[in-house]
Amino acid sequence: MPGRLTVIGLGPGSAALLAPMALASLTRAGAVVGYDRYLALVDPALLQGKTLFSSPMKKEMERTAKAVEFALAGLDTVVVSSGDSGIYGMAGLVLEFLEREGLLDKIELEVVPGIPALCAAAALLGAPLMHDFASISLSDLLTPLPTIMKRVRCAVEGDFVIVLYNPKSRKRDSYLGQALAIAAEHRGPDTPVGFVRNAYRPDQDVRVATLGTCDPEWADMLTTVVIGNSASRLAGGKILTPRGYFEKYG
Ligand code: SAH
Repeated sequence: MPGRLTVIGLGPGSAALLAPMALASLTRAGAVVGYDRYLALVDPALLQGKTLFSSPMKKEMERTAKAVEFALAGLDTVVVSSGDSGIYGMAGLVLEFLEREGLLDKIELEVVPGIPALCAAAALLGAPLMHDFASISLSDLLTPLPTIMKRVRCAVEGDFVIVLYNPKSRKRDSYLGQALAIAAEHRGPDTPVGFVRNAYRPDQDVRVATLGTCDPEWADMLTTVVIGNSASRLAGGKILTPRGYFEKYG
């Protein structure tokens, strides 16, 4: 009989923010599969004695195939993502793989939620996501650049608070600068912008600035960037996007 296949999110990195349900999945797992950097975030004691498979970035297909192989061999298998597995994570790929291989009826898939980087970053920045927001990944590995920039433009025009994932990599140095320039076409220079690098990890770095003063160089591939909407403002070094309570009831 096939084992259970569970896709979990580890949260931003600190063990304190690993959801108890994800921890329970890891504890009972016979096999754990993940990107090597993410497996390194897991307490080694939790992985001891288990069948492990890790591989570098861009090897997601290989990891998925391996996880399915483990599950078909009868092992309770956990696939690990950072943050939440359903946000630019492994949940969609695993589900699509099972669909394409005709395995949806054979393998029971469970997706366990995790705390995504956008929540971790927002918490460290104050309260930037109190109103409607759009999350956009600047990675053009799987999405064409014109589509990404069109989404940035639409989100700016719609006055959404904007969360930028994957703001940079070695090959994509200029996209964040382009996105910030699009934002500056519609929003004032005082619009708050937050850069959160390695949230809830040992070398966490949080910077709060504005569209007029921020520097795209502050970001790397471990950073999440949040751009405020037209009502967002700085409050005691934090970013506040008021929802409108004081205007209505104040
Ligand atoms: N599934 C993850 C996202 C993976 S995409 C989630 O739900 O958050 C990888 C991107 O996530 C990184 O480029 C960065 O933008 C963001 N990210 C992941 N962990 C982070 C952390 N601890 N601090 C800041 N950003 C993080």
